[in-house]
Amino acid sequence: MTREPRGTGAADSRCPSCGAPVLRQLVGRIAALTVTADPTPLTPEQETQVRTDPNRLTWCLITGRWRPPELRWRHPAHSPHCTHHVVACHRCPPAAPTTLF
Ligand SMILES: [Zn+2]
Ligand SMILES: [Zn+2]
Repeated sequence: MTREPRGTGAADSRCPSCGAPVLRQLVGRIAALTVTADPTPLTPEQETQVRTDPNRLTWCLITGRWRPPELRWRHPAHSPHCTHHVVACHRCPPAAPTTLF
């Protein structure tokens, strides 16, 4: 059992599978869930596309000058027109060892 010294704040981290930079944060108090999200904000079109996948969630990335970045679930009660950056759960890109984009 590991305990974070601080309960809030998204930490810069790397995906253990693909090595991409990700944001990791423990979300929730009862059913704590570690969220791994891509740090790149989505456009509204990208978010709409992500939300068609039931296995992916989108998160508000709340940032400020004096606070660590924080991921907040975009639940139905959250303002749909907030000005936060929107990020999505990280998905490892499909393995393509011989193809470079
Ligand atoms: Zn928001
Ligand atoms: Zn990955």
